[in-house]
Amino acid sequence: MKGDNEVAQKIDRRTFIKSGVGLSAASLISKGSQPFYQNAENSRPVVIASANGLRATEKAMKMMRQGKDSLDSVIAGVNIIESDPEDITVGYGGLPNEEGVVELDSSVMHGPSHNAGAVASLRHIKNPSKVARLVMERTAHALLVGEGALKFALSHGFKKENLLTEKSRKIWLKKKESLSDKDFWYPPPVEIKKSDPHALLESHGTINCCALDVQGQLAGVTTTSGFFYKIPGRVGDSPLIGAGLYVDNNVGAAGSTGFGEANILTCGSYSVVEFMRQGHGPEQACLKSLKRVANKARLWPGYKDEKGRPIFDLNFYAVNKRGEFAGASLWKGKHFAAHDGQKNRLRECAYLYEK
Ligand code: ASP
Repeated sequence: MKGDNEVAQKIDRRTFIKSGVGLSAASLISKGSQPFYQNAENSRPVVIASANGLRATEKAMKMMRQGKDSLDSVIAGVNIIESDPEDITVGYGGLPNEEGVVELDSSVMHGPSHNAGAVASLRHIKNPSKVARLVMERTAHALLVGEGALKFALSHGFKKENLLTEKSRKIWLKKKESLSDKDFWYPPPVEIKKSDPHALLESHGTINCCALDVQGQLAGVTTTSGFFYKIPGRVGDSPLIGAGLYVDNNVGAAGSTGFGEANILTCGSYSVVEFMRQGHGPEQACLKSLKRVANKARLWPGYKDEKGRPIFDLNFYAVNKRGEFAGASLWKGKHFAAHDGQKNRLRECAYLYEK
């Protein structure tokens, strides 16, 4: 049972969240040793996302122009991708775990209240980002997982659905049939590309979307079906605040896609925001965090090539309080989506290594 004190704290927290914690027009940003002020009321809205997020950035920008807050806008943006069966890395139609069950991870973070909510290993609900938001707004918790997350979603009226589309089921079955010639499954009738040692690491995707709205408020969301053929119950970086997403309303917002375990072990998005706090621009902040990941990856057996470079990919996306933004990847050739208020288009990510 909750003590009076806890209940009081919870009420305080709700009041705090509901009030939206209006920021003063001027927010302090520390840039190296020379702090400067940003007039929040003059902020131009910006939305960034992973490369699969052009429709999300379009939608979020439209909403922010209508005066909607950054969190409402980025969630509505990623809901489009979550609900689209053609994107097999997120939400409905996402690639399943090794048992053929789709398990989704998502987190949301709201800059003005410095609050967050997340769900992990959530089955049967196609918009996990909406459930993550309810965890933030309607509970005293930050993260719900598995069965508990599902029950929570159902109690809020979400509908239980089969998220495995025919397309995703066929990909899963091919994988299962081609894994071994020492089991009772015959190989798939049409030979699929022989998997190389890194193929498992390639079978994944996510959408991250972060925004700065016209009031100068930051927010972000990350949502995914995680690794294809993961062990049931595996949780990636996306629902973990500090790994797949982090927002500090005085500094900036950052999120990630790519090899989640590497990101979890290095608190990636948190470190991007911390580098921005130290005065680095978003691109440098993302690259510095990637460098840190690459250095640590040298310690992980099986995750580096003959030159000591990571064999996986990891991407960070960041926007700061001034509306500057960037995407960066370990490996050359990646893109990110950004709507800068004028154009919504894919841009090249900065990178550390070339193949
Ligand atoms: N980061 C996701 C995870 O590890 C996968 C991805 O973005 O590709 O679950």
